[in-house]
Amino acid sequence: MERVKLLGSEIDTYRFDDAIDYAKANPGQVVTINPEMLDYAQKHPDFANIIKNAELVIPDGIGVQLGLMLMGHNIKRIPGIEFAKRLLTEFQGRPVALIGAKPEILSKTVENLKSELPNLNLVYVHDGYFKDTELILSEVSAKKPELILVALGSPKQEEFIYSLKPLLPNAVMVGVGGSFDVWSGVVERAPEIYQKLGLEWLYRTIKEPKRFKRIFPVLPLFVLKVLKEKWS
Ligand code: UDP
Repeated sequence: MERVKLLGSEIDTYRFDDAIDYAKANPGQVVTINPEMLDYAQKHPDFANIIKNAELVIPDGIGVQLGLMLMGHNIKRIPGIEFAKRLLTEFQGRPVALIGAKPEILSKTVENLKSELPNLNLVYVHDGYFKDTELILSEVSAKKPELILVALGSPKQEEFIYSLKPLLPNAVMVGVGGSFDVWSGVVERAPEIYQKLGLEWLYRTIKEPKRFKRIFPVLPLFVLKVLKEKWS
């Protein structure tokens, strides 16, 4: 399958089911990429290198889908939160680790996931507010999970997974951003109509206006940069 370039980073073009099959057959780092991350990668070569070395880079969200469309690629987005949930479903019975989010969010997430997926086999769970990263890396690798979801926000989660990769070469590891907040029930996902239209970012911004400052300059600049890349 083809990888296509967007603002210097390469993105995989699988459809949802094929991306799941690929991740299962090719353990390693899964990056769910968005415009903010592409922007960050352009400015930080170490982060760009992590993306370059990821086993799978999926277009999470309408921003990246739009960027790819402007470059002439008709590729459907793969929401990271849905991708991660499907992996949890498919890995039932096999050892799984969850790392990230606030302690109370994480315990709510564990409770909800366990009732939804009765055969979920959690071998390691830790919140995302730790100081000693080395300790967490050694604790989680000792448990030998085969699927690890990391919710530390970007770029922290991608850096964490990159460090974990050599310790657990046979695991599928996904950076899942704010997914635990949603699964905990504390943060609601946008209503379906917003999801269908690719406007979750708009809903979240209305609900949480302080996000505006974070995403507002990024999206229009992202589109301009993509067009500049296309025409140069
Ligand atoms: N988070 C964490 N440790 C940190 C920073 C963030 O566990 O040091 C968690 C945070 O609690 C949230 C998740 O990372 O559950 C995603 O954060 P955010 O919404 O900022 O990231 P985004 O999904 O927008 O990239």
